[in-house]
Amino acid sequence: MPKLLSTTILLFSALTICAQVENIDRLEVRVPNIPGYQTLKCDFHLHTIFSDGTVWPTVRVTEAWQYGYDAIAITDHIEGKPYRKHVPIDYNAPNEIAKDEGAIKDIIVIGGVEITRNMPPGHINGIFIEDANKIVTDRVRNRFQRFKVMTGDYAYIDSIDRSDKDYLLAMEAVKKQDGFTFWNHPGPPGKYDSLTIYPEHIELIEKGLLHGIEVSGWGAYWPEAFQWCLDHDLALLSNSDYHYPHDISGKLSRSARRNYTLVFAKERTEASIKEALRANRSAIWFNDMVIGRKEHVEPLFYHAIKLYKPHFVDSRRRKYVKISNESDFLLEIEFKSGKSGGYFDDIYLEARTTQILVFEPGAEAMEGIVRNFHVAPNTPLEIKLDLQAAEEK
Ligand SMILES: [Zn+2]
Ligand SMILES: [Zn+2]
Repeated sequence: MPKLLSTTILLFSALTICAQVENIDRLEVRVPNIPGYQTLKCDFHLHTIFSDGTVWPTVRVTEAWQYGYDAIAITDHIEGKPYRKHVPIDYNAPNEIAKDEGAIKDIIVIGGVEITRNMPPGHINGIFIEDANKIVTDRVRNRFQRFKVMTGDYAYIDSIDRSDKDYLLAMEAVKKQDGFTFWNHPGPPGKYDSLTIYPEHIELIEKGLLHGIEVSGWGAYWPEAFQWCLDHDLALLSNSDYHYPHDISGKLSRSARRNYTLVFAKERTEASIKEALRANRSAIWFNDMVIGRKEHVEPLFYHAIKLYKPHFVDSRRRKYVKISNESDFLLEIEFKSGKSGGYFDDIYLEARTTQILVFEPGAEAMEGIVRNFHVAPNTPLEIKLDLQAAEEK
């Protein structure tokens, strides 16, 4: 190859890569690891223009970069293709495009789809899939054939006909690819009377076709769904389901918090995330709440804080002790009055701040609860701040 030509090619490819990286800041979101595992921040439910989203797949990766995520899944509806007059129906395209961008930005992009049916069973995501084409049932393909020339049709497949159970074929196809499935947004965004888990869901769980539930999403938290995860041994997830760009979809508030599914993985790899989800090693962080099984939420709390040895003892022998929140969680700690002898009833320990606790004479520990850390529906985490375990200044 002539030298000039090869130099040109080299220069051109370097320019292409630089153009994709740009200078976009990443917000480093600080969440503690727990013993034996890395805590990965994930969003397993996102849409692009390949279904009813409004962004190109690379935008989802850039957003993940900006907001400190480790991994995302693009999960476009198989059944809803409103832009098909302008965007080809290509079930694998969004994941292929996003994976290339993920490699550049070091974001793990997991292949996914949303299987979209009326309730029950509602919307189900299948992730860790290799080939989305194989999840598309004949009924869905025929439907697109029939409506080929129309646009704007949002072709949810009716599941009222229980004898059909067409969704089972799609979910079995996910299982065949060793994928992981979860029930999306089991409740509405706003107020509700009560949520229902249908016999169809129980059947899916018993057949090993349903592995998790979105316990929060759409700006809501559904405690009933948390209980179902505990009852049926399923993984907890909190995902955004964004269709518009991230900044438009989030609330216009400085304090708006995003959805994070926290995954406790052995390594920062796709395989480790899958292994962790299968073992139910996940929790959710949403709107300043941390929700999950005690075995995960408890170490998250103790690794988020640093309790120091007393730096001062006053004339009444009260001990003054610094407590730091080294994470980006908010910690709303309420002390049990009368028992621990604490000076305050409660503290709001904001992200990356320190406060001073006062231990009454003779008190070596303060007990309480973390109001916004839940280990079962409406059950806050109980804690003990023990000076024996405190660190030197
Ligand atoms: Zn959905
Ligand atoms: Zn969705």
